[in-house]
Amino acid sequence: MQPRDLSAHTVYRAGRGVEEVARDLDLDPDDLVKLSSNENVLGPSPKAVDAIRDHADTVHVYPKASHTDLIEGLADRWDLAPEQVWAANGGDGVLDCLSRALLHPEERVLIPNPGFAYYGMSARYHHGEVSEYTLDRADGFTQTAANVLDEYDGERIVVVTSPHNPTGSVMPLDEVEALAEATDEETLVLVDEAYGEFTDVPSAVSLVRERDDVAVLRTFSKAYGLAGMRLGYGLIPADWADAYGRVHTPFDTGELACRAGLAALADDDHLERSVEMVERAREYLYEALDAPTWESHGNFVLADVGDGSAVAEAAQREGVIVRDCGSFGLPDCIRVTCGTDEQMERAVSVLNEVTDG
Ligand SMILES: *Cc1c(COP(=O)(O)O)cnc(C)c1O
Repeated sequence: MQPRDLSAHTVYRAGRGVEEVARDLDLDPDDLVKLSSNENVLGPSPKAVDAIRDHADTVHVYPKASHTDLIEGLADRWDLAPEQVWAANGGDGVLDCLSRALLHPEERVLIPNPGFAYYGMSARYHHGEVSEYTLDRADGFTQTAANVLDEYDGERIVVVTSPHNPTGSVMPLDEVEALAEATDEETLVLVDEAYGEFTDVPSAVSLVRERDDVAVLRTFSKAYGLAGMRLGYGLIPADWADAYGRVHTPFDTGELACRAGLAALADDDHLERSVEMVERAREYLYEALDAPTWESHGNFVLADVGDGSAVAEAAQREGVIVRDCGSFGLPDCIRVTCGTDEQMERAVSVLNEVTDG
């Protein structure tokens, strides 16, 4: 037998892990700097680590109270009703919940190009179809409502990534609102704020409070340093937030993920330290990299190095792993995750060397 026709489906290619690369190059994993997946190089909040340890011996029971506690913590944090918080298995899991809740077969989703691969994948898994709008490189990948509306044709979901991966650009709140105003009543504008902690641009959550057609996606994978736990959440308009119970996988957020997330949410120190490190690293990368860069609101910087895959490969041989942006349709670019001063100095010295050579 065979599965259904999956030829339109793509395989998600994550940045490579330190162990894989170390094995390939016969290097010690400790000598590698991994700056390819926008993880928090400071690690998880120590409070989250304590919470994981404290609850390790109760993982034989299905998570119930931990999920309720997390949802209440997040509802509090965002000043929404608990029903409006859709916790899921990573931000990716939130995208799946929204696909299930909204898409009829063959309905379309409008997503950015360049952009995050899983938007299109999730839509296709759920028998939806995909159209794209282009962020104009000549215009610094600027995000406006007009630019999205140029391509809009009644899609069921329009995705805005702000801050945007991999370019770092943002869509200001008034533009998000203009977009929601201009699209059909039955179109959801989903604002992916996976990197929202790293920018001063206000969250679109205020629109979630006021409207029934704007939702926000957030994750614990980036600023909170919990990528390995798989925990993200959607902030959903009150009118239809009760759909969650009908579309999410039972117990899709694990006991330890919920406990860790709740503890991380209370650790302002760790979050502040992480954001400060990122702000410093961005400035340093703009200044010190020989390659032209774009201003970024995320924990990464996009750089035009001429031949992204050649530079990423050469840097990797020197122990610095960055993301070659060929899979984003930007083959001349690399994306460098922000790290500590020491990591940034080493990355810049290696990247400048392999870019010039
Ligand atoms: C990392 C990321 C996500 C979510 O990742 P999860 O680990 O599944 O929470 C969502 N959108 C963008 C643009 C991302 O870069």
